[in-house]
Amino acid sequence: MTRAEVLGWLREDDPARLDELWRRADEARRRVVGDEVHLRGLVEVSNHCVRTCAYCGIRAGAPVTRYRMSPLEIFECALQATALGYGTVVLQAGEDFGLEPEVVAETIRAIRKHTPLAITLSLGERTDEELAAWREAGADRYLLRFETSNRALYDRIHPSRGREPSDRIAMLRRLRALGYAAGGGVMVGLPGQTLDDLADDIAMFARLDLDMIGLGPYLPHPATPLAAEPRPAWDSELMTYRMVALARLACPGANIPGTTALATVNRAEGRELALSRGANVLMPNLTPTRYREHYEIYPDKACLRETADVCDGCLRKRLHAIGRTVGEGRGDARREARSEP
Ligand code: SAM
Repeated sequence: MTRAEVLGWLREDDPARLDELWRRADEARRRVVGDEVHLRGLVEVSNHCVRTCAYCGIRAGAPVTRYRMSPLEIFECALQATALGYGTVVLQAGEDFGLEPEVVAETIRAIRKHTPLAITLSLGERTDEELAAWREAGADRYLLRFETSNRALYDRIHPSRGREPSDRIAMLRRLRALGYAAGGGVMVGLPGQTLDDLADDIAMFARLDLDMIGLGPYLPHPATPLAAEPRPAWDSELMTYRMVALARLACPGANIPGTTALATVNRAEGRELALSRGANVLMPNLTPTRYREHYEIYPDKACLRETADVCDGCLRKRLHAIGRTVGEGRGDARREARSEP
């Protein structure tokens, strides 16, 4: 796809033409990654964070109750993921250096030893030594959205710490070199974001040859500085579906989730619409309910109070209703599957 074509689709408002985009993306999804929807059990292991991202409700200093799960609590969530038949557990947190590298490595080793799960980390910008140690301990994948490929916008919303500038695109390349399957992604509808930026994001997904691509609408959190800034005039939910479809066409083999942010803006059918427009993954939340409300990256998150069993039943019913099946096994991206001996 040329840049002009991508921009054409991003500007497209005619429902009949958009149906053609959804059809093409859905066809590519079915042909390349099939009808299976892989379920990744998401565990929000800590909401401590040292960063001051202008968009995020758990940024340093934000008025939330902080928590950090113990290794045993995390391990129990991994057992629950296994019991529910999921192939992957995703350990996500704010950038929390209280998650000590060796404790994280021990937790990864325990999950590795006692479950068949693939392990995905999403712990922010950590040192190469830490990333290498966690990979060595058995972590398979790392999710690190670069949020926007517009460097000036990124610097404004995601301030660097100390003297080293934050460079998530460089870090994604290092993760790949360390042997991780790499997941990037962006928020859609950020103040100051343009359609040109979104076209650049699609080109960046392809250039990085990502294994996973996370796309969600930006949802303002009232306790953050970005919430006061005007957002683009376009509908960020619809624009996110356009991005999901274009990401599928640009990176046909990638794993692309129907994100919780989409389910939050459209509780009735956000996930289903993403799944029928290019997505092939869902991330049910396994975080113990007593912690979940404190992982408030944006307000009024979908599925905040339902227990894991209830969420699981609901998602399976929704998948069945749209004619999709639950994926068996780890649900590796095609590259991971190819690289297996
Ligand atoms: N600390 C890790 C990191 O920064 O990659 C993982 C946790 S971070 C909260 C996960 C993702 O949440 C971010 O990459 C960002 O895209 C998304 N996020 C944070 N605040 C958001 C908001 N207000 N609206 C939509 N998505 C948001």
